Amino acid sequence: MGLRLADIGPKLVLASHNQGKLREIAELLAPFGIEAVPASAFGLAEPVETEDSFAGNALLKARFAAAGSGLPALADDSGLCVEALGGAPGVYTADWAETPEGRDWMLAMGKVEEKLQAMGPDVSRRAAFHCTLALVWPDGREALFEGQVAGSLVWPPRGDRGFGYDPVFVPEGYRETFGEMDPEAKHAISHRAMAFAKLKAALGA
Ligand code: IMP
Repeated sequence: MGLRLADIGPKLVLASHNQGKLREIAELLAPFGIEAVPASAFGLAEPVETEDSFAGNALLKARFAAAGSGLPALADDSGLCVEALGGAPGVYTADWAETPEGRDWMLAMGKVEEKLQAMGPDVSRRAAFHCTLALVWPDGREALFEGQVAGSLVWPPRGDRGFGYDPVFVPEGYRETFGEMDPEAKHAISHRAMAFAKLKAALGA
């Protein structure tokens, strides 16, 4: 599909209710002069993620926000895929943090660690963050962009600069976790930044 930056216009709805993602996506869009408005500003609820793939859930969220706002919508579906756990938690990454009082990321990181430790001391600690971005226009045009960053999991968690599972993830070739890294350094290599680079290239930006 031939997309151009002008196809987006000055305003884009971000189909997310995750503060960490909203902050990172707004930072990634800022250089293009695009105002990123969260879906909550349109009174849109968070749709239930019923699909079993990152692409399926990203499209579902972006379609819902584009239809509800009348503006182009960008959704991010992302997660942590742990090699020794057969790719889990994957699309269920956020679910592993769910508690009756809201999401608890220490609990979620602890669940991953517990499963790895139960597999013995020689278990592979390799993991990757995955991100699929879906851009959907109210007229039905759609585009998908994917990014990944490989790394390994550490325990205990380190750093409070990121969000979600950042404190246990050390990207390949680095010593610091995403939670310890300067946000600029994370943006240079992250799964979300890689997907964004593809989006920018497709838009000729
Ligand atoms: P969902 O895409 O809303 O289903 O949620 C994916 C979950 O993956 C997020 O809530 C985070 O916990 C986790 N996640 C995605 N990207 C990152 C990241 O850059 N750092 C840490 N955790 C992430």
